[in-house]
Amino acid sequence: DTYQLSWPRCTFMNTIKKVLITKQGKKFYVKSLDEDLHTQYGFVKKESLKKAKGGSLLKSNTGEEFSVFNPCFIDLYRKIKRDAQIIPLKDIGLIIAETGINKKSRVLDAGSGSGALACFLASTAKEVVTYEIRDDFIEIVKQNIEFLGLKNIKIKNKDIYTEIDDKNIDVMTLDVPEPWKALESCAKALKPGGFIVSYSPSVPQVADFVNALRKNENFVYLKTAEIVEREWEVEERRVRPKSSGIGHSGFLSFGRKVKN
Ligand code: SAH
Repeated sequence: DTYQLSWPRCTFMNTIKKVLITKQGKKFYVKSLDEDLHTQYGFVKKESLKKAKGGSLLKSNTGEEFSVFNPCFIDLYRKIKRDAQIIPLKDIGLIIAETGINKKSRVLDAGSGSGALACFLASTAKEVVTYEIRDDFIEIVKQNIEFLGLKNIKIKNKDIYTEIDDKNIDVMTLDVPEPWKALESCAKALKPGGFIVSYSPSVPQVADFVNALRKNENFVYLKTAEIVEREWEVEERRVRPKSSGIGHSGFLSFGRKVKN
């Protein structure tokens, strides 16, 4: 029940060859160099796409200019398949900043969902193991891992509440309906000093998780926070918050394992 991917076996992974961007910041993804790229700003010939190097400037038949570059991780990440509600980037930012995930970190994640959080963390951590109970989600996660070309991530078809068999983990991320049920198994998997992070959309989940964490002698509770990202519009001197945009995603609660 461990899915270890074999490399290289996918064509999917190479589906974005180039990114084109207009002066206004509108992006287009080139999936094939054997076809012209059609956009609302006219089309770009396949011959020009083939020849273009990172930093080249291309013109469409209507004269619109596009800059060309090779896709980097975040360009690809924005195009992954999403089925379950994926975690937004603003929340991933706080998880990484508060726990200091870096190239030495071993991370355990659950549930995988579409694998968005697991894949993002794999791009900065040493390795990630992600647990998921549903087969249909596991399929999506596998495709996303291949698409992003990640080699340091494993999927386990197991229940995070009862079936953790990993040890020596630096950071655990929980995005499951009843995270308090995972505390006992998380305590066994985490290193002393390791972080537990729970992401929940609603207040009763936060209360139950934090109360259980506080009662558990293996952990100390650090904090709960919500990230509110407000985007601004900047047009000449018309500079003000965008009139729409702030929605709710989830609350992040942080704890630390203190006992061996
Ligand atoms: N963080 C993910 C989204 C997770 S959605 C992302 O960014 O893409 C929550 C997932 O948890 C669902 O796919 C659900 O099937 C899974 N899940 C629920 N209970 C679980 C459990 N006990 N063990 C493992 N996975 C579980």
